[in-house]
Amino acid sequence: MPNADFAIIGGSSTFSVSFPEDIGDDNISIISKDEVYPTPFGDSPPMTLFEIAGKAPKKVITCRMHGWMGDRTRADSSRQIFSVFKEFGVKKVLAEGGVGSIKKSMKPGGIFIPNDYIDFSVRKDVSITNDYLLVMREPVCPVISKSMSSIVKSRDRYTLFETGVYAVTDGRHFESCAEVRALGILGADAIGQSFVPEVYLAREIGACYCGLYLIVNYAEGVVPEWDYHKFKGLFYSEPKNISSILLDTVKSLNADEEKCSCRQLRIETLLKK
Ligand SMILES: [Zn+2]
Repeated sequence: MPNADFAIIGGSSTFSVSFPEDIGDDNISIISKDEVYPTPFGDSPPMTLFEIAGKAPKKVITCRMHGWMGDRTRADSSRQIFSVFKEFGVKKVLAEGGVGSIKKSMKPGGIFIPNDYIDFSVRKDVSITNDYLLVMREPVCPVISKSMSSIVKSRDRYTLFETGVYAVTDGRHFESCAEVRALGILGADAIGQSFVPEVYLAREIGACYCGLYLIVNYAEGVVPEWDYHKFKGLFYSEPKNISSILLDTVKSLNADEEKCSCRQLRIETLLKK
């Protein structure tokens, strides 16, 4: 199995492009494209391995989160993907996706980098092993988040919300007005259908995790009717920009530098047989 320090999981905000080729970054060379790897949970979705040239070249494994595609469940897809990441020795995982905003001030078109979450999903099969107690005190890597935030700011294109709470629901449908109201009262800032189990699995394999989420609409009931045309427009207009933010974030990071406590929040379980 090859090796990669970094992983990028694509979601709805890069869905309409072929990543990373479409970004047109001359520093990138593809090592393998759409490779399927066997895992204890079945064959992985197609995954691409590439290298970013530089003083210290960086290898990145990337794939789309395939649980929405109908050919496998989210739980299986996540476990397949993170089993491969584990084998590759991935140390830092970046993800992206779209979210609905619960706050009027968080307008569609902005970017949200949550630092916490509330898990309302009912997915239970979300671990690879039972070896660790996963402490979720600081679920998002503060080092990646800081770097990603400064790159978003440098683009001068997005209103950035650099902290906040991501409420995770199961989907595929969106939430009702009453559900959105309830999630807002509970402290959530935006709603989406990713973030978990990825954040659990990243911690389990000893990797840092940070997600970048494009605000694509208002959650139901926040405004009388959210704008489908804006939602659709963002789906096609932003992928290259979002992708280049992710790539620049990887370029800015040092895989071996441990200025965060992400790895210490994974503790060997006491529940050993
Ligand atoms: Zn970290």
